[in-house]
Amino acid sequence: MPPFPVVTVHGISRFGQTGPVCANLLKIKQWVSLCRTHDCIFESCDSTTNSSFSKKICLTFDDALVSILEIAEWMKSPGTIFIVTDFVGKTNNWESQPGWVKPEKCLSWSQIRELVDCGWSVGAHSCTHPDFNRCSKEKIQFEIETSKKLIEERLGLECRYFAYPYGHAPATAREMTKELGMIAFGTQPGWVNSHSDTSYLPRLDIYDLIQPGLASTWAWHEPSRLQLQMMNYKRMAGATLRKVRRIAS
Ligand SMILES: [Zn+2]
Repeated sequence: MPPFPVVTVHGISRFGQTGPVCANLLKIKQWVSLCRTHDCIFESCDSTTNSSFSKKICLTFDDALVSILEIAEWMKSPGTIFIVTDFVGKTNNWESQPGWVKPEKCLSWSQIRELVDCGWSVGAHSCTHPDFNRCSKEKIQFEIETSKKLIEERLGLECRYFAYPYGHAPATAREMTKELGMIAFGTQPGWVNSHSDTSYLPRLDIYDLIQPGLASTWAWHEPSRLQLQMMNYKRMAGATLRKVRRIAS
């Protein structure tokens, strides 16, 4: 399997600036078109893990929000959604949601079914979106196992993928996804290759890729370790700045 990038997307907004959990629709469209001019194709998790094509990109949509439907329709290529099972068809106001995140509607089971019928892959993202770093072993096991089972019951398919809420994957969580035979994703930046740990695969974030500059090329050029480190520093600095601004306002 040649290395390829898996990209994390959360909400998408028609208006307003791109933020860490909401990307601007027009900017995503421009980036997708740019990738396509570089001969990249967009595939679901099911096809990327099985295909030998080298210029593939796997777009993953955490929280499975309704705002992704417009880009899904426009792209006409399948992606992957990670569902928070207790919140299907409801608002994403789970207990651990930070107050600054704008409330958004999650996809309903019938909307999810439509995506599946268009070739999309479906993965679990827990039942209630807790931070696994603050959960007991039993809670983590329950969240992973129950969300997987519910998706399988509701959609009649095997749920092979998991995305850790907030990208936090303590050892118990990784052991559990491994035991269940799942392929699981964090949010640590990098490309997936044949040596990657399938219980904690890296992903790039759309937030970094649609900014002007070098990172937009990481969809078809694998970033170096140094570039990824630099991006991490930038991310941390951005998060600190946002925190300071929130406290000051
Ligand atoms: Zn999430």
